[in-house]
Amino acid sequence: MIRVLVWNEFMHEKDPSCKASEIYPEGIHGCIAEFLGKEEDIVVETATLDDENCGITRERLKNTDVIIWWGHCGHHKVPDSVAALVQEEVLNGMGAIFLHSAHKSKPFMRLMGTSCSLTWRESDDMERVWVCAPGHPIAQGIGRYFELPGEETYGEPFGVPQAEENVFIGWFDGGEVFRAGLTYTRERGKVFYFQPGHETYPTYKNENVQRIILNAVRWAKPVSRTDNCMDCPNLGKAHII
Ligand code: ZN
Repeated sequence: MIRVLVWNEFMHEKDPSCKASEIYPEGIHGCIAEFLGKEEDIVVETATLDDENCGITRERLKNTDVIIWWGHCGHHKVPDSVAALVQEEVLNGMGAIFLHSAHKSKPFMRLMGTSCSLTWRESDDMERVWVCAPGHPIAQGIGRYFELPGEETYGEPFGVPQAEENVFIGWFDGGEVFRAGLTYTRERGKVFYFQPGHETYPTYKNENVQRIILNAVRWAKPVSRTDNCMDCPNLGKAHII
């Protein structure tokens, strides 16, 4: 079984004035956990910002094969010590999938070591997500492309290191393009960044998006695992920035 932990800051969905509260009353984490939980080879747990220590402990991460992270306006509320635990466990072999605005989350920025900045606007653009690497495991079951009728527009330049695979590229009908699906390896851990998923659109209910996240979970599961950091005197601090 692949043990998945879906982490979400869970802020927009609790704000009655935000469309996210209508689209995802169960939270984005609840939506993702629901479709992943239908798979026979996956067990899912969730955690949010409101949980004690964000629901993240070393013990819990050691029992997680793949973490999925969604965050936006609460990035600064995640303690550095929590981000460091996620980073360390990825280096030890845990897979990690960062969705949409998690490009500025503390764990992702630690793993990238760069600004992770991008350009953006909200104008209801249609996004066409093109498959760049049709042989990649994460792209299986997706055609040449699929369309999202509305998404937040993200644009280049995207301040991340050169990816090992650029699996998807997004084109927006306002003209921008954006590297929409990128893979990395950080020591033993596999990392996937996937751009679609603004909270005011039902993106995580799209069957292609669900297929991609499911593929990414199976791709990112650990190949090998270590617990090198268990006795480290700097436990809770970052080893690599
Ligand atoms: Zn957004």
